[in-house]
Amino acid sequence: MALEEGGRTDAGLGRWALTPAALRLWLAERGFPAYRATQILSWVYRRRAPSFAAMNNLPQGLRDALAAGFALPALTPTVVAHSNDDTRKLLFQLDEGAAIEAVLIPDPPRLTLCISSQAGCGMACAFCATARLGLLRNLSATEIVGQVLAAQAQLRPNERISNIVFMGMGEPLANYDAVVQAIEILGAEWGVGLSARRITVSTVGLVPAMQRLVGDTNVNLAVSLSATTDAQRDPLMPVNRRYPLATLMAMCRSLPIPQRRRITFEYVMLAGVNDSPEDATRLARLLRGIRSKVNLIPFNTFPDAGFACSSEATVQRFQERVLAAGLNATIRRSRGRDIQAACGQLALSGAAEVPRRRSRGAPKPVQESSTRTQEPVA
Ligand code: SAH
Repeated sequence: MALEEGGRTDAGLGRWALTPAALRLWLAERGFPAYRATQILSWVYRRRAPSFAAMNNLPQGLRDALAAGFALPALTPTVVAHSNDDTRKLLFQLDEGAAIEAVLIPDPPRLTLCISSQAGCGMACAFCATARLGLLRNLSATEIVGQVLAAQAQLRPNERISNIVFMGMGEPLANYDAVVQAIEILGAEWGVGLSARRITVSTVGLVPAMQRLVGDTNVNLAVSLSATTDAQRDPLMPVNRRYPLATLMAMCRSLPIPQRRRITFEYVMLAGVNDSPEDATRLARLLRGIRSKVNLIPFNTFPDAGFACSSEATVQRFQERVLAAGLNATIRRSRGRDIQAACGQLALSGAAEVPRRRSRGAPKPVQESSTRTQEPVA
C-alpha cells in the first residue's frame, strides 16, 4: 500500500492508525465513498465499537476490509491494580514479549493518565526500573491511544481524564512518528477530544526530536534533567554523551515556547549523588533565562536499584535553594508506590523482579531500536 501524506504506517503492526487522512486514502483506493470515514471514526472514538463487525451501518464488505486493514485501539488490561492512594495501574499484555503499563493518578480536580510509548526502554538511565528491561519494541499509535480508551473505560461515573502525560514506559521521542500521530488522535475533535495543551511529553533530552515536536504539536514539554554537570549526568543518563548539557540547555533556551507556558525540568533526587546545595545552585544557573518549572522527584526504589532517595529534609532544602534563586520548583508527591506504579518503577509487573544491572556502577550499553524511528544514542 502506498504511503502518502497522513498515511504513515502504524508502527509495530504494519497497519495504519485510524485517522481521517488515512481512512480517506484507504477508502478511495477501494472505491468506497469518502463519507464513510466520518462514520467509521465515530464508531471508533465516540461509540467505542468493540469490533469492525459491530459497525452496523456499514456494508459488510467494508467491515471485512476494515478488519483486515486496521487495528482498533481496543486494549484490555490484564490486571488493574488499585493503590491505597487511589492510583490505578493498568497492565496490558500486548504480545508475548511486550507488556506495558498505564497509570491513572487522581489528584482532584485533576485526573492524570500516565501512558507508555514503548515496551521497555532503550535509554538506559541508571536509576530507572524500566531501563533494566531494555527496549522491547515501539508501540503503535493505535496502542498508545488504546491505553487512553482502556483507562477511560475504567473510570467511575463522575471521573474524567483531565491530563495525559507520556511518562510511562519508554522514551516517547525515540518513537516519534507513533507518538505524534497518537497526539493528533488524542487532541482531535473526531478523535478523543483532549486538547494538546493538556498533554505533556517527557523526554530524556533527544534534542533534534524535541525541536521537531515543538513544531509539529502543541503539547507541553518535560525534560528529565536529574544532574547539573556532564560528569554527573553521563553515567546517570547515557543520552547525555550524545546531547550534553550545554547542547540541551542551549536548545531549550531557543525553543519557541508560547508566553504562558513553561518547560518542566524533572529532577530525580538521589541521595549523595545529585542532591547537594551546589547542585541546587548549578541547577538554578543552568535554567537561567528559560521559562521553566522544576519538578523534584523523590527517587522511588526497586530491587537492586543501587540508589537511595534523598531524605525529606534534603529534598526540601534543595527546593528552597532553587526557589530562592527565583525559579519555580515543586516536589512531586509519590503516588502508587505500593503497587509499583510510581515514577521509574514501571517494569513488567508480572515478572517477580526487575532484571539486575549487568555490571554495577557502569551503565549498561544503550540499546538501539529495531525501527528507523528510534534515535540511536551513542
Ligand atoms: N523517557 C522519558 C519518559 C519517562 S518519564 C523521560 O525519561 O523523561 C519518567 C520520569 O521518571 C522521568 O523523569 C525519570 O527521570 C523519572 N524516573 C525514572 N526512574 C525513577 C525512579 N526510580 N524514581 C523516581 N523517578 C524516576
